[in-house]
Amino acid sequence: MNTSIDCASLRQWFLEEQRLLPWRLDRTPYAVWVSEIMLQQTQVAVVIPYFERWMQRFPTVRHLAEASIDEVIKIWEGLGYYSRARYLHAGARYVLERHNGVIPDSEEELKMIKGLGPYTIGAIRSFAFHQRSAAVDGNVLRVLTRYLMIEEDISQPKTVNAIRELALTLLPQEESWVITEALIELGATVCTRKPKCGDCPLRKSCQSYIRGDAARLPYKSKKTSIEVLHRAVAVVRWQDKLLVRRGQQGEIMSDLYEFPYFESQASGADSAEMAANIRKRFDFETLYDKKLERVAHSFTRYRVHLEPIQFICRSRTRPQLIPHHQWLSPAELQRVAFSSGHRRIFQGLDENFEAS
Ligand code: SF4
Repeated sequence: MNTSIDCASLRQWFLEEQRLLPWRLDRTPYAVWVSEIMLQQTQVAVVIPYFERWMQRFPTVRHLAEASIDEVIKIWEGLGYYSRARYLHAGARYVLERHNGVIPDSEEELKMIKGLGPYTIGAIRSFAFHQRSAAVDGNVLRVLTRYLMIEEDISQPKTVNAIRELALTLLPQEESWVITEALIELGATVCTRKPKCGDCPLRKSCQSYIRGDAARLPYKSKKTSIEVLHRAVAVVRWQDKLLVRRGQQGEIMSDLYEFPYFESQASGADSAEMAANIRKRFDFETLYDKKLERVAHSFTRYRVHLEPIQFICRSRTRPQLIPHHQWLSPAELQRVAFSSGHRRIFQGLDENFEAS
């Protein structure tokens, strides 16, 4: 197997073609850390406004560490995979306490920070500290498996580890960080799922391209299966407030707010059954008001169809609530972080809580 890469062509291409991205303007270890965590499983265009808002609100490790988790989650609201925000927050607190707010530059110390895996550690060492370090994400896996015609299954950790070791050997001694980043950029913009080999600086030496088989690799045996869920959502109003629940620690939606919901069938939710479920769970009577617009959203491996139904709580006095539930006004609801599907339900109501 050819185990070298055309670094000169790749470097030149990168210096000329790289995208202007906000996190490339000021390569502090903190900015690299935040941007790389945000970019996991999220497209660049989606990340840009989040990154800019985050850096405005939390410009340093100290600002982040001293913020409340509620504020951190609120800034992250809509970006998904909220454990990333929680790990950033916990990591900042650790760096403040352990390293006085200065992000360390050694692999051993970086490994101690919560949420940092081999890719992010490699990226911080390479882009922020200019150390010779590989950063192998999905983009780089795609480029290298094609370029070197690696047929092994990339859903196996041993394959990824082997490619990570191989990537390090491909890096030049001089300014290795340029090639580390160029490989990521090439995978993100040219060597994509449908590769644009005509634009690729590596095509003359790419094994897959030479054999006319560019798009076949990488090989991945385990595909993530998507589970479809149907939920009947109870938008319950009492006077000028709505009933919401805050997700608890350990739950997928921890620290996020949602309207109460009940698992339902694909055929749709029944309002009488919903009212009975509300009575059973909350011990108060409701009056059916109206069906609201359906919303679909995805998180982790789930595709969720939400069918919201609005009810009026019939109690004259404010009903006692079971743990973790609250009655919140519109102004209060604007300030909390919702899961994205429930945020859309909320945004579909006008200030009088009528469907707009
Ligand atoms: S020539 Fe095509 S397959 Fe090979 S690295 Fe470039 S874009 Fe990917």
